[in-house]
Amino acid sequence: MASTLSVSTPTVNQASRRSLTPLQVPQRLLLGPGPSNADPTVVAAMNQQPIGHLDPAYLGLMNEVQDLLRYAWQTQNPLTYPVPGTGSAAMEATLANMVEPGDVVLVAVKGYFGHRLVDMAGRYGGDVRTIHKAWGQAFDLAELRAALETHRPQVLAIVHAETSTGVRQPLEGLGALCREFDCLLIVDTVTSLGGVPIFLDDWQVDLAYSCSQKGLSCPPGISPFTLGERAIAKLQNRRTPVANWYLDASLLQKYWGSDRTYHHTAPVNMTYALREALRLLAEEGLEARWQRHQQNAERLWDGLEALGLNCHVDREFRLPTLTTVRVPAGVDPKAVSRTLLNEYDIEIGGGLGELAGQVWRIGLMGANSHPENVDRLLETLAQVLAQK
Ligand SMILES: *Cc1c(COP(=O)(O)O)cnc(C)c1O
Repeated sequence: MASTLSVSTPTVNQASRRSLTPLQVPQRLLLGPGPSNADPTVVAAMNQQPIGHLDPAYLGLMNEVQDLLRYAWQTQNPLTYPVPGTGSAAMEATLANMVEPGDVVLVAVKGYFGHRLVDMAGRYGGDVRTIHKAWGQAFDLAELRAALETHRPQVLAIVHAETSTGVRQPLEGLGALCREFDCLLIVDTVTSLGGVPIFLDDWQVDLAYSCSQKGLSCPPGISPFTLGERAIAKLQNRRTPVANWYLDASLLQKYWGSDRTYHHTAPVNMTYALREALRLLAEEGLEARWQRHQQNAERLWDGLEALGLNCHVDREFRLPTLTTVRVPAGVDPKAVSRTLLNEYDIEIGGGLGELAGQVWRIGLMGANSHPENVDRLLETLAQVLAQK
Protein backbone atom coordinates (compact mmCIF):
# COMPACT_ATOMS: atom_id res chain seq x y z
CA MET A 1 0.00 0.00 0.00
CA ALA A 2 1.44 3.38 -1.01
CA SER A 3 1.98 5.75 1.84
CA THR A 4 1.23 9.40 1.51
CA LEU A 5 3.60 10.25 4.35
CA SER A 6 7.00 11.58 3.35
CA VAL A 7 9.72 9.73 5.20
CA SER A 8 13.22 11.10 5.71
CA THR A 9 16.27 8.87 5.46
CA PRO A 10 17.08 7.43 8.89
CA THR A 11 20.36 8.73 10.27
CA VAL A 12 22.65 7.48 12.97
CA ASN A 13 23.50 10.04 15.59
CA GLN A 14 27.03 10.65 16.86
CA ALA A 15 26.61 8.67 20.07
CA SER A 16 25.29 5.55 18.37
CA ARG A 17 27.99 5.78 15.68
CA ARG A 18 30.49 4.75 18.35
CA SER A 19 28.44 1.61 19.00
CA LEU A 20 28.85 0.58 15.35
CA THR A 21 32.31 -0.77 16.16
CA PRO A 22 32.30 -4.47 17.10
CA LEU A 23 31.83 -5.17 20.81
CA GLN A 24 34.99 -5.40 22.85
CA VAL A 25 34.82 -6.60 26.43
CA PRO A 26 37.76 -6.14 28.82
CA GLN A 27 39.24 -9.29 30.35
CA ARG A 28 38.55 -9.10 34.07
CA LEU A 29 39.11 -11.41 36.98
CA LEU A 30 35.79 -11.17 38.83
CA LEU A 31 36.48 -11.55 42.56
CA GLY A 32 33.51 -9.52 43.75
CA PRO A 33 30.08 -10.59 45.03
CA GLY A 34 29.04 -11.76 41.55
CA PRO A 35 29.01 -12.34 38.69
CA SER A 36 32.00 -14.65 38.77
CA ASN A 37 33.83 -15.47 35.54
CA ALA A 38 31.96 -18.00 33.44
CA ASP A 39 33.82 -21.21 32.80
CA PRO A 40 35.08 -21.26 29.14
CA THR A 41 33.20 -24.49 28.39
CA VAL A 42 30.01 -22.84 29.71
CA VAL A 43 30.54 -19.93 27.32
CA ALA A 44 31.12 -22.44 24.49
CA ALA A 45 27.90 -24.30 25.35
CA MET A 46 25.98 -21.04 25.29
CA ASN A 47 27.40 -20.07 21.90
CA GLN A 48 25.53 -22.81 20.05
CA GLN A 49 22.47 -22.16 17.89
CA PRO A 50 19.15 -22.04 19.74
CA ILE A 51 16.66 -24.85 19.13
CA GLY A 52 12.92 -24.72 19.75
CA HIS A 53 11.84 -24.85 23.37
CA LEU A 54 9.42 -27.68 22.52
CA ASP A 55 11.97 -29.61 20.42
CA PRO A 56 12.36 -33.16 21.80
CA ALA A 57 16.10 -32.51 22.07
CA TYR A 58 15.38 -29.50 24.26
CA LEU A 59 12.87 -31.39 26.38
CA GLY A 60 15.56 -34.00 27.04
CA LEU A 61 17.97 -31.27 28.04
CA MET A 62 15.40 -29.91 30.51
CA ASN A 63 15.27 -33.30 32.25
CA GLU A 64 19.04 -33.32 32.54
CA VAL A 65 19.11 -29.83 34.03
CA GLN A 66 16.48 -30.83 36.58
CA ASP A 67 18.41 -33.97 37.60
CA LEU A 68 21.65 -32.05 37.90
CA LEU A 69 19.99 -29.34 39.96
CA ARG A 70 18.56 -31.91 42.35
CA TYR A 71 22.08 -33.26 42.82
CA ALA A 72 23.53 -29.77 43.38
CA TRP A 73 20.93 -29.03 46.04
CA GLN A 74 20.72 -32.57 47.43
CA THR A 75 16.97 -32.80 47.00
CA GLN A 76 14.46 -35.19 45.48
CA ASN A 77 11.88 -32.42 44.87
CA PRO A 78 10.09 -33.14 41.57
CA LEU A 79 9.44 -29.42 41.09
CA THR A 80 13.03 -28.31 40.66
CA TYR A 81 13.74 -26.13 37.64
CA PRO A 82 15.34 -22.84 36.63
CA VAL A 83 13.25 -19.71 36.02
CA PRO A 84 14.25 -16.98 33.56
CA GLY A 85 15.87 -13.97 35.17
CA THR A 86 18.50 -13.43 37.82
CA GLY A 87 18.47 -14.61 41.43
CA SER A 88 15.94 -11.95 42.38
CA ALA A 89 13.43 -13.49 39.95
CA ALA A 90 13.75 -16.87 41.66
CA MET A 91 13.52 -15.12 45.04
CA GLU A 92 10.32 -13.49 43.88
CA ALA A 93 9.04 -16.85 42.60
CA THR A 94 9.20 -18.35 46.10
CA LEU A 95 7.33 -15.44 47.72
CA ALA A 96 4.81 -14.92 44.90
CA ASN A 97 3.76 -18.57 45.11
CA MET A 98 3.73 -18.93 48.90
CA VAL A 99 2.42 -15.60 50.18
CA GLU A 100 -1.29 -14.84 50.12
CA PRO A 101 -2.70 -11.54 51.36
CA GLY A 102 -2.75 -11.56 55.15
CA ASP A 103 -0.29 -14.46 55.58
CA VAL A 104 2.16 -13.84 58.39
CA VAL A 105 5.66 -13.94 56.88
CA LEU A 106 8.61 -13.85 59.25
CA VAL A 107 11.91 -12.71 57.76
CA ALA A 108 15.13 -13.21 59.69
CA VAL A 109 17.15 -10.18 58.60
CA LYS A 110 20.92 -10.03 59.08
CA GLY A 111 21.94 -8.13 55.95
CA TYR A 112 20.91 -6.50 52.71
CA PHE A 113 19.19 -9.49 51.09
CA GLY A 114 17.00 -10.08 54.14
CA HIS A 115 15.62 -6.59 53.52
CA ARG A 116 14.89 -7.50 49.90
CA LEU A 117 12.82 -10.49 51.12
CA VAL A 118 10.86 -8.14 53.40
CA ASP A 119 10.18 -5.76 50.51
CA MET A 120 8.99 -8.53 48.19
CA ALA A 121 6.84 -10.35 50.77
CA GLY A 122 5.03 -7.08 51.54
CA ARG A 123 4.27 -6.52 47.85
CA TYR A 124 2.38 -9.84 47.78
CA GLY A 125 0.23 -8.75 50.71
CA GLY A 126 2.12 -10.57 53.44
CA ASP A 127 1.79 -9.43 57.05
CA VAL A 128 5.56 -9.17 57.35
CA ARG A 129 7.30 -9.49 60.72
CA THR A 130 11.06 -9.27 61.14
CA ILE A 131 13.77 -10.22 63.56
CA HIS A 132 17.20 -8.66 63.25
CA LYS A 133 20.78 -9.56 63.90
CA ALA A 134 23.83 -7.32 63.57
CA TRP A 135 25.38 -7.32 60.07
CA GLY A 136 28.16 -9.88 60.48
CA GLN A 137 26.38 -12.35 62.77
CA ALA A 138 24.14 -15.42 62.34
CA PHE A 139 20.94 -16.36 64.18
CA ASP A 140 20.95 -19.28 66.60
CA LEU A 141 18.14 -21.82 66.85
CA ALA A 142 16.86 -20.52 70.20
CA GLU A 143 16.37 -17.03 68.73
CA LEU A 144 14.50 -18.46 65.76
CA ARG A 145 12.32 -20.62 68.02
CA ALA A 146 11.40 -17.61 70.16
CA ALA A 147 10.43 -15.65 67.04
CA LEU A 148 8.28 -18.53 65.74
CA GLU A 149 6.52 -18.68 69.12
CA THR A 150 5.87 -14.94 69.10
CA HIS A 151 4.76 -14.48 65.50
CA ARG A 152 3.31 -17.93 64.53
CA PRO A 153 4.07 -17.27 60.85
CA GLN A 154 2.88 -19.26 57.83
CA VAL A 155 6.28 -18.70 56.20
CA LEU A 156 9.82 -18.13 57.50
CA ALA A 157 12.38 -16.76 55.04
CA ILE A 158 16.11 -16.70 55.76
CA VAL A 159 19.32 -16.21 53.77
CA HIS A 160 21.86 -19.07 53.93
CA ALA A 161 24.78 -17.09 52.50
CA GLU A 162 24.36 -13.36 53.20
CA THR A 163 26.47 -11.81 50.46
CA SER A 164 26.36 -8.36 52.04
CA THR A 165 28.07 -9.52 55.23
CA GLY A 166 29.91 -12.76 54.38
CA VAL A 167 27.96 -14.75 56.99
CA ARG A 168 26.99 -18.42 56.63
CA GLN A 169 23.74 -19.05 58.48
CA PRO A 170 23.73 -22.57 60.00
CA LEU A 171 20.49 -24.32 58.98
CA GLU A 172 20.68 -27.63 60.83
CA GLY A 173 17.52 -28.14 62.87
CA LEU A 174 15.64 -25.17 61.43
CA GLY A 175 13.44 -27.24 59.08
CA ALA A 176 12.31 -29.50 61.94
CA LEU A 177 11.57 -26.43 64.06
CA CYS A 178 9.45 -24.91 61.27
CA ARG A 179 7.44 -28.17 60.98
CA GLU A 180 6.78 -28.06 64.70
CA PHE A 181 5.15 -24.65 64.10
CA ASP A 182 3.47 -25.68 60.83
CA CYS A 183 5.47 -23.01 59.03
CA LEU A 184 7.06 -23.20 55.57
CA LEU A 185 10.79 -22.58 55.32
CA ILE A 186 12.21 -20.54 52.41
CA VAL A 187 16.00 -20.46 52.10
CA ASP A 188 18.05 -18.12 49.87
CA THR A 189 20.97 -20.17 48.53
CA VAL A 190 22.08 -17.61 45.91
CA THR A 191 25.69 -17.40 47.13
CA SER A 192 25.90 -20.91 48.55
CA LEU A 193 24.81 -23.24 45.72
CA GLY A 194 27.92 -24.77 44.19
CA GLY A 195 30.30 -23.56 46.91
CA VAL A 196 28.92 -24.18 50.39
CA PRO A 197 27.53 -27.50 51.74
CA ILE A 198 23.75 -27.66 51.31
CA PHE A 199 21.47 -30.62 52.08
CA LEU A 200 18.03 -29.32 51.22
CA ASP A 201 16.11 -32.53 52.03
CA ASP A 202 18.06 -33.48 55.16
CA TRP A 203 17.53 -29.94 56.40
CA GLN A 204 13.81 -30.11 55.56
CA VAL A 205 13.82 -26.91 53.53
CA ASP A 206 10.47 -26.34 51.77
CA LEU A 207 11.53 -23.83 49.10
CA ALA A 208 14.87 -22.61 47.87
CA TYR A 209 16.24 -20.48 45.08
CA SER A 210 19.61 -19.53 43.66
CA CYS A 211 21.26 -17.91 40.65
CA SER A 212 23.58 -18.97 37.85
CA GLN A 213 26.34 -16.36 38.07
CA LYS A 214 27.89 -16.95 41.48
CA GLY A 215 28.90 -20.43 42.67
CA LEU A 216 27.96 -22.06 39.36
CA SER A 217 30.25 -19.92 37.13
CA CYS A 218 27.62 -19.38 34.46
CA PRO A 219 26.54 -15.96 33.11
CA PRO A 220 23.54 -14.29 34.83
CA GLY A 221 20.04 -14.77 33.42
CA ILE A 222 18.62 -18.11 34.62
CA SER A 223 17.92 -19.05 38.22
CA PRO A 224 17.26 -22.34 40.02
CA PHE A 225 14.04 -22.69 42.00
CA THR A 226 12.63 -25.65 43.95
CA LEU A 227 9.48 -26.52 45.92
CA GLY A 228 8.97 -29.45 48.26
CA GLU A 229 5.75 -31.33 49.06
CA ARG A 230 4.53 -28.95 51.76
CA ALA A 231 5.04 -25.98 49.47
CA ILE A 232 3.09 -27.70 46.69
CA ALA A 233 0.23 -28.42 49.11
CA LYS A 234 0.11 -24.74 50.02
CA LEU A 235 0.14 -23.80 46.33
CA GLN A 236 -2.76 -26.16 45.59
CA ASN A 237 -4.81 -24.84 48.50
CA ARG A 238 -4.43 -21.15 47.76
CA ARG A 239 -7.58 -19.05 48.11
CA THR A 240 -6.30 -16.56 45.50
CA PRO A 241 -4.39 -17.03 42.24
CA VAL A 242 -0.64 -16.35 42.33
CA ALA A 243 -0.38 -12.60 41.73
CA ASN A 244 2.55 -12.99 39.31
CA TRP A 245 1.63 -14.76 36.07
CA TYR A 246 5.20 -15.21 34.83
CA LEU A 247 6.42 -16.92 38.00
CA ASP A 248 3.26 -18.90 38.88
CA ALA A 249 4.57 -22.38 39.71
CA SER A 250 1.19 -24.00 39.04
CA LEU A 251 1.49 -22.81 35.39
CA LEU A 252 5.24 -23.36 35.11
CA GLN A 253 4.98 -26.94 36.32
CA LYS A 254 2.88 -27.78 33.26
CA TYR A 255 5.89 -26.93 31.11
CA TRP A 256 8.58 -28.39 33.38
CA GLY A 257 6.42 -31.38 34.42
CA SER A 258 5.21 -34.17 32.13
CA ASP A 259 2.73 -32.08 30.06
CA ARG A 260 5.36 -29.78 28.50
CA THR A 261 2.66 -27.23 27.71
CA TYR A 262 3.90 -23.90 26.36
CA HIS A 263 4.05 -21.20 29.01
CA HIS A 264 6.78 -18.80 27.87
CA THR A 265 9.69 -19.14 25.45
CA ALA A 266 12.42 -20.72 27.53
CA PRO A 267 15.80 -18.92 27.49
CA VAL A 268 17.26 -21.75 25.43
CA ASN A 269 20.89 -20.65 25.36
CA MET A 270 20.92 -19.92 29.08
CA THR A 271 19.64 -23.45 29.62
CA TYR A 272 22.61 -24.77 27.58
CA ALA A 273 24.94 -22.71 29.76
CA LEU A 274 23.37 -23.86 33.01
CA ARG A 275 23.45 -27.49 31.94
CA GLU A 276 27.18 -27.23 31.24
CA ALA A 277 27.84 -25.41 34.54
CA LEU A 278 25.95 -28.10 36.44
CA ARG A 279 27.69 -30.86 34.48
CA LEU A 280 31.06 -29.42 35.55
CA LEU A 281 29.84 -29.38 39.15
CA ALA A 282 28.74 -33.03 38.97
CA GLU A 283 32.01 -34.03 37.29
CA GLU A 284 34.01 -32.44 40.10
CA GLY A 285 31.66 -33.83 42.76
CA LEU A 286 30.02 -31.84 45.54
CA GLU A 287 32.40 -32.96 48.30
CA ALA A 288 35.48 -32.02 46.29
CA ARG A 289 33.94 -28.73 45.24
CA TRP A 290 33.01 -27.75 48.80
CA GLN A 291 36.50 -28.65 50.01
CA ARG A 292 38.12 -26.62 47.24
CA HIS A 293 36.06 -23.56 48.18
CA GLN A 294 36.90 -23.97 51.86
CA GLN A 295 40.64 -24.42 51.24
CA ASN A 296 40.96 -21.43 48.93
CA ALA A 297 38.97 -19.26 51.30
CA GLU A 298 41.30 -20.23 54.16
CA ARG A 299 44.28 -19.39 51.96
CA LEU A 300 42.71 -15.96 51.40
CA TRP A 301 41.92 -15.40 55.10
CA ASP A 302 45.47 -16.33 56.15
CA GLY A 303 46.93 -14.10 53.43
CA LEU A 304 44.77 -11.15 54.44
CA GLU A 305 45.83 -11.56 58.06
CA ALA A 306 49.46 -11.64 56.95
CA LEU A 307 48.85 -8.26 55.28
CA GLY A 308 47.55 -6.93 58.59
CA LEU A 309 43.91 -6.91 57.42
CA ASN A 310 40.97 -8.15 59.49
CA CYS A 311 37.99 -10.17 58.32
CA HIS A 312 34.61 -8.85 59.48
CA VAL A 313 33.06 -12.22 60.45
CA ASP A 314 34.14 -14.83 63.04
CA ARG A 315 35.86 -17.76 61.32
CA GLU A 316 33.15 -20.20 62.40
CA PHE A 317 30.48 -18.34 60.43
CA ARG A 318 32.54 -17.19 57.45
CA LEU A 319 31.36 -18.06 53.96
CA PRO A 320 33.88 -19.82 51.75
CA THR A 321 32.37 -18.03 48.73
CA LEU A 322 32.38 -14.43 50.01
CA THR A 323 34.74 -12.74 52.46
CA THR A 324 34.22 -9.31 53.99
CA VAL A 325 37.49 -7.54 54.91
CA ARG A 326 37.57 -4.40 57.06
CA VAL A 327 38.98 -1.31 55.39
CA PRO A 328 41.96 -0.05 57.43
CA ALA A 329 41.74 3.45 58.94
CA GLY A 330 42.79 6.20 56.55
CA VAL A 331 42.31 4.12 53.38
CA ASP A 332 39.74 5.11 50.74
CA PRO A 333 38.02 1.82 49.86
CA LYS A 334 36.74 3.03 46.49
CA ALA A 335 40.17 4.25 45.40
CA VAL A 336 41.61 0.79 46.10
CA SER A 337 38.84 -1.02 44.19
CA ARG A 338 39.18 1.40 41.29
CA THR A 339 42.94 0.86 41.03
CA LEU A 340 42.50 -2.91 41.20
CA LEU A 341 40.00 -2.78 38.34
CA ASN A 342 41.56 -0.14 36.10
CA GLU A 343 45.20 -1.08 36.48
CA TYR A 344 45.09 -4.79 37.30
CA ASP A 345 41.78 -5.97 35.80
CA ILE A 346 40.63 -7.40 39.12
CA GLU A 347 37.12 -6.67 40.37
CA ILE A 348 36.29 -6.80 44.06
CA GLY A 349 33.13 -5.44 45.73
CA GLY A 350 32.58 -2.61 48.16
CA GLY A 351 30.42 -2.66 51.27
CA LEU A 352 26.65 -2.70 50.87
CA GLY A 353 24.00 -1.11 53.12
CA GLU A 354 25.14 -0.82 56.72
CA LEU A 355 28.65 -1.92 55.79
CA ALA A 356 29.10 0.62 52.97
CA GLY A 357 32.56 2.18 53.20
CA GLN A 358 33.60 -0.23 55.97
CA VAL A 359 34.48 -3.42 54.13
CA TRP A 360 35.54 -4.85 50.80
CA ARG A 361 33.78 -7.96 49.58
CA ILE A 362 35.94 -10.62 47.98
CA GLY A 363 34.26 -13.49 46.16
CA LEU A 364 35.86 -16.85 45.43
CA MET A 365 33.03 -18.54 43.59
CA GLY A 366 32.89 -21.55 41.31
CA ALA A 367 35.80 -21.78 38.86
CA ASN A 368 37.26 -18.60 40.36
CA SER A 369 37.94 -20.36 43.65
CA HIS A 370 41.52 -21.21 42.74
CA PRO A 371 44.85 -20.76 44.62
CA GLU A 372 46.37 -18.76 41.73
CA ASN A 373 43.55 -16.22 41.90
CA VAL A 374 43.97 -15.93 45.66
CA ASP A 375 47.70 -15.32 45.32
CA ARG A 376 47.25 -12.84 42.46
CA LEU A 377 44.76 -10.83 44.49
CA LEU A 378 46.87 -10.86 47.67
CA GLU A 379 50.01 -9.73 45.82
CA THR A 380 48.17 -6.98 43.98
CA LEU A 381 46.33 -5.81 47.07
CA ALA A 382 49.62 -5.59 48.99
CA GLN A 383 51.11 -3.39 46.22
CA VAL A 384 48.07 -1.15 45.93
CA LEU A 385 47.73 -0.68 49.72
CA ALA A 386 51.44 0.20 49.98
CA GLN A 387 50.85 3.06 47.49
CA LYS A 388 47.74 4.45 49.21
C1 LIG B 1 23.01 -11.85 44.45
C2 LIG B 1 22.00 -12.17 45.48
C3 LIG B 1 20.62 -12.11 45.26
C4 LIG B 1 20.04 -11.51 44.02
O1 LIG B 1 20.43 -12.13 42.88
P1 LIG B 1 20.51 -11.33 41.50
O2 LIG B 1 21.07 -12.38 40.60
O3 LIG B 1 21.43 -10.18 41.71
O4 LIG B 1 19.16 -10.91 41.13
C5 LIG B 1 19.77 -12.56 46.23
N1 LIG B 1 20.22 -13.04 47.40
C6 LIG B 1 21.54 -13.09 47.67
C7 LIG B 1 21.99 -13.64 48.99
C8 LIG B 1 22.47 -12.66 46.73
O5 LIG B 1 23.77 -12.70 47.00
